[in-house]
Amino acid sequence: MHFENTREFALQLDQQDKLREHRDQFLFPKINGKQVIYFTGNSLGLQPKNTQKYVDDIMKDWADLAVEGHFYAEKPWWDYHERLAKPLSKIVGANEAEITVMNTLTVNLHLLMVSFYQPKGKRYKIICEEKAFPSDQYMLNSQVRFHGYDPDDAIIEIKKRAGEHNFRTEDILKTIEAVGEECALILIGGVNYYTGQVFDMKTITKAGHDIGAFVGWDLAHAAGNIKLELHDWNVDFAAWCSYKYMNSGPGNASGCFVHERFHNKKDIPRFEGWWGTSKETRFLMKPEFEPMPNADAWQLSNAPVLSLAPYLASLELFDEVGMDALIEKRNRIVSYLEFILKEIDKEVDSTFEIITPSAQKERATQLSVFLHGEGKALFEYLMKNGVITDWREPNVIRLAPAPFYCSYEDMFEFGQILKQGILDKKNS
Ligand SMILES: *Cc1c(COP(=O)(O)O)cnc(C)c1O
Repeated sequence: MHFENTREFALQLDQQDKLREHRDQFLFPKINGKQVIYFTGNSLGLQPKNTQKYVDDIMKDWADLAVEGHFYAEKPWWDYHERLAKPLSKIVGANEAEITVMNTLTVNLHLLMVSFYQPKGKRYKIICEEKAFPSDQYMLNSQVRFHGYDPDDAIIEIKKRAGEHNFRTEDILKTIEAVGEECALILIGGVNYYTGQVFDMKTITKAGHDIGAFVGWDLAHAAGNIKLELHDWNVDFAAWCSYKYMNSGPGNASGCFVHERFHNKKDIPRFEGWWGTSKETRFLMKPEFEPMPNADAWQLSNAPVLSLAPYLASLELFDEVGMDALIEKRNRIVSYLEFILKEIDKEVDSTFEIITPSAQKERATQLSVFLHGEGKALFEYLMKNGVITDWREPNVIRLAPAPFYCSYEDMFEFGQILKQGILDKKNS
């Protein structure tokens, strides 16, 4: 694709952008009175303007109806969580019955491991990626210790090759084969949080099943970012947070996927609570647990409607736009950002290294950029000048131009600010 590093060209791309009106559906922070250039939708998505109303509706129902809101609110609270399954099923490629929303991400991965990490005899090992997101490392370590194993022995990390920034699928498959029947579970982040690398989930899931292991995915950086086909890929389980690309608000509720093969399975180990028991008999308060015939069987507590409301508001926007349109714009705006970075790199004679894979099928919204020769001061300069990125040690900024609300002009403008920041430092 032909690109130019000019404002006119960027504005022309904005003109052609089918999603350009959606930018106005989001609230942007301001710095020095100017709307920021927001690159951290991979960390906390912006607030959609319709969110306030969804939350206000709950507050009003609570004020007007109090306990009666459980059954008589316009969107009754007792089954509020069920409203999220359908729009989410389209985003992650699942049947509606395979989706449930509850708790938060790390909590859900722990709960799902109750069902899907069942070490026995020599099959007790877990395969994950090296330098997984810290919460996932803590989770996996504590799970294997809980079952009486030593993490140094039971956790097998897939390594990158020396000098490379990304994992190779062939190396992942080799590790899976080598661990073989000692492997109880494979649990990897579907999109790596540090580099933005997209894993070949279909191939890895199949390889895991071939050795008799369960395969689950942490989709924190994948949900709402990439095309997922969880059902068809035969993934056993997955979970994601909703506050990154899904724009549902800080620390908000997590979505779960449990493949329908495991629904109605009487012998599956699971921690249970009253929201997982059959709707028909839930309020008879009987001692027997009769699991819901779908992923809701994993529910524990009554629905936290004040956190589900913003998630539902956000899903309404996803439903309007659809993943295909988001992905189309994503690919183009990320390519444009990459072009801008390379242009500025040439102009100021710097050495940015994009450590995100260059192949389209291995990348999504995020570009991670190694700033050789530029330090944290540059990151701080960007912040001061209205560009919100994030900084990771040792010297990486992550840029995620969320297609829902970032514009091509943002990318151009970012390039100009970046250039000025580097030149100012050189001249000082
Ligand atoms: C963001 C993120 C989390 C966050 O977990 P919470 O329980 O929501 O705090 C976990 N795993 C990965 C891979 C993440 O990127």
